[in-house]
Amino acid sequence: MTKESWLAANTLTPEKIAIARRVVEDVTRGRDLGDSLRAHALKPGGVLGKSFLVAAYNEMVADGTLEADVSLLDKLRMKPVRTLSGVTTVTVLTKPYPCPGKCIFCPTDVRMPKSYLPDEPGAMRGVEHNFDPYAQVRSRLTQLENLGHPTDKIELLILGGTWSSYRRDYQEWFVARCFEAMNTFKHEGHEGDKGKSEGSAVNLPELQSTNETSSHRNVGLVIETRPDEITPDELRWLRHLGVTKVQLGAQSLDDHILEINKRGHDVASTHRAVSLLRAAGFKVVLHWMPNLLGATPESDRADFAKLWTGLCPDEIKIYPNQLLANAELYEYWQRGEFQPYTTQELIDLIVGIKPTIPRYCRVNRVIRDIPSTHVVEGNRRTSLRQDIQIEMKKRGVHCECVRCREVRAKNVNPESLRLDDLVYQTDSAEEHFISFVTPDDKIAGFVRLSLPNENSPTTGLSDLDGAALIREVHVYGQSLPVGADRAGAAQHVGLGTRLLEQADSIAQSHGFKRIAVISAVGTRGYYLDRGFERGEYYLVKEL
Ligand code: SF4
Repeated sequence: MTKESWLAANTLTPEKIAIARRVVEDVTRGRDLGDSLRAHALKPGGVLGKSFLVAAYNEMVADGTLEADVSLLDKLRMKPVRTLSGVTTVTVLTKPYPCPGKCIFCPTDVRMPKSYLPDEPGAMRGVEHNFDPYAQVRSRLTQLENLGHPTDKIELLILGGTWSSYRRDYQEWFVARCFEAMNTFKHEGHEGDKGKSEGSAVNLPELQSTNETSSHRNVGLVIETRPDEITPDELRWLRHLGVTKVQLGAQSLDDHILEINKRGHDVASTHRAVSLLRAAGFKVVLHWMPNLLGATPESDRADFAKLWTGLCPDEIKIYPNQLLANAELYEYWQRGEFQPYTTQELIDLIVGIKPTIPRYCRVNRVIRDIPSTHVVEGNRRTSLRQDIQIEMKKRGVHCECVRCREVRAKNVNPESLRLDDLVYQTDSAEEHFISFVTPDDKIAGFVRLSLPNENSPTTGLSDLDGAALIREVHVYGQSLPVGADRAGAAQHVGLGTRLLEQADSIAQSHGFKRIAVISAVGTRGYYLDRGFERGEYYLVKEL
């Protein structure tokens, strides 16, 4: 999709809203949504996007034509799955900047931060807003509200090359402006203070403390960086910014493959980084790339298995290497030294490894969203996740990762839930993945409790001295605005509190006298209400 067609498809006009109102009326009278959409087809062809229906619904509720009705809104909503994990993700892109890495597979486009392409769906809003963090957050929140999604719990996902290689004053300004956009966002025309360009003075701690009680709270902050950038000093800095989750490019767990692909770090450095992040309570997402130069489907299978001894990431993104004309790998391909896997080879590989993923890990992606026009040779299908699901079904195999077991919007009966404690050993901690599971083995909520062992590295963060760590609390159910009601949704039956109590008692039984939680700025209040106190960078509680 070009930027122009993307804008055309997402622009609200009074004519489209008028048609959308007629469709909403039809649906309230019991007419099938698809039938009504086809009956009101657009003049140039095609049917109205569901975002327009939600905008019309909001307008009709506001002007009194309609009574608010959550189930009607559900019907009209586009892609409800986007908020089913209880939070809404807002992606923002940093400015074009070089990266210390020289990875041969990584595309370079001087208009973009390293590794991103200007027409990549997740990157387009960044380009459109000239990489301004404030404008990107505002625009995304406006769009989400138009789509009918609640925006009170926001996970901020900062993308762009290697975050840690940007100057720290830029990083602080960038994050502060994102907070300012969340703090001042009101859908009804309030613009906030738009005009602060890069380098203008910001007061991050003040903006963060305002966000604690804002109506658009930050419940997670994610950055992406390289393993060799993670040091005790970096951990402290990331906490200063409010970061809760780190995406780390591991790519391969074979030193030779890392070397010939010019990654510039070794496997030991990935292990060191993950141990440091774990010791500081961060959630860790590893990026893993099959089909690198020198790999084969067999070697990739063996490489993938290594993820689960020692590193044990909380989440993974599988990014099959894609051959792009603006990456150095292209020259290797021209010389006949590199050959991408076929789509079928890739499907076979991923269908083979997916069922081996432990139940504590969430698979976020199995392919990167690169427009197929950029792919020189090899897989061009961006629907690979669906292809893989179909193939797994055919072969009768299942994936039991967190994503595949999330309860989603289904109602849960709290009485029927079983408490499960999955214990696993990592390089530096005994981990407890404590979850509430439904009778059909779906996860209604979970806590990640980390009990550091004797190999846990020193972080220099005094809040964490001798403490067990809560790295994540996640309760599923449609993300609802405060005050809205959906009987039985998992977020509303106190599962979080019960999971925290369980974590306390497990930590205590292992001899820990205190427990610390890595809290996003907007969830501090939640933990303060549950017996935690403010430390320097964490919330802590004596047991
Ligand atoms: S470290 Fe990441 S962004 Fe930098 S060159 Fe390598 S893959 Fe690209």
